[in-house]
Amino acid sequence: MLLIDVHCHLELFKEEVSKVVERAENAGVRVIITSGMDSATNRKALSLSRKFKIVKPSLGIYPTDKLSYPEIEAELKFISGKKDKIVAVGEIGLDYTLPDKKKQQDLFESQLFLAEKVGKPVIVHSREAEADVIKMLKGHSCKAVLHAFHGSVKLVREAAESGIFFSIPSNIGRSEQFQRIVKEVPLSHLLTETDAPFLAPEKGQRSEPAFVAQTVKKIAEIKGLDEIEAANIIYSNYQNLFS
Ligand SMILES: [Zn+2]
Repeated sequence: MLLIDVHCHLELFKEEVSKVVERAENAGVRVIITSGMDSATNRKALSLSRKFKIVKPSLGIYPTDKLSYPEIEAELKFISGKKDKIVAVGEIGLDYTLPDKKKQQDLFESQLFLAEKVGKPVIVHSREAEADVIKMLKGHSCKAVLHAFHGSVKLVREAAESGIFFSIPSNIGRSEQFQRIVKEVPLSHLLTETDAPFLAPEKGQRSEPAFVAQTVKKIAEIKGLDEIEAANIIYSNYQNLFS
C-alpha cells in the first residue's frame, strides 16, 4: 500500500514519536507531512524531518498564535529562508471563533503571498470562516489543500471546481460531513490526513499517521473502488500537489 498523511502535528507528540513513525511505516505510510503552527512547532517540525526520513515539514503561523506584527514578520522570514526544506506552507487559515478577524486575514494573506513566492502549496484550516477562506484562496495562484473542511456542500463544490484539494481525516467513519465531501469531490482532488493527535477514528482516542489506512478504506467504499486502487490515486494526488 502507498499511503500518505498530508497533515498532522508530530510536534505535539512526546518521546514516543519514533514508535508512532515506525507504526506508520509498517502500515504502508510513505510520507508524513507534519505542520508547524508557530515558532516553536515550526522548529520542531524541521528537526523531526531531519530525524525521520518519511517525515516532511510544512511551516506556517496558525491564527491561534498570539504574535505581534514584528514577530510575525520575523517568522515569515524564517519560513521563507527554509523554502528548500519544506513541502508546504501551513498550517495557516482563519478561525472566526477567535478574535481579530482583520489581523487573521492579514496574516493569512501574507502567507498566501509567501507560498506563491516560494512556489509551495498551502495547508489550510478554517473554522466558521469557510466562505472567506475560499474567497481568499481563489485570489491567489498557489495550490491549496483544505484540511478537515466543515463548509457547506455549495462551498465544497465551489472549492473543488476551482481546483482546491480536500484532505480527509481519520474520523471519517463517524463524520457525515467528511463522507459527504468524499461523495461530492472527484477522487483526483482528495487526500488523506490524520491531524494527529486530533480527529481519531474513535472519540477520545489519540490519532496517529498509521490511521490513514482506515480513511483510504472508507474512501474506497464510498467511491466503489478497491483499497489499493484508491490508495494509488490518492498517492499520485499527493505527488502532483506537493512536487
Ligand atoms: Zn491541524
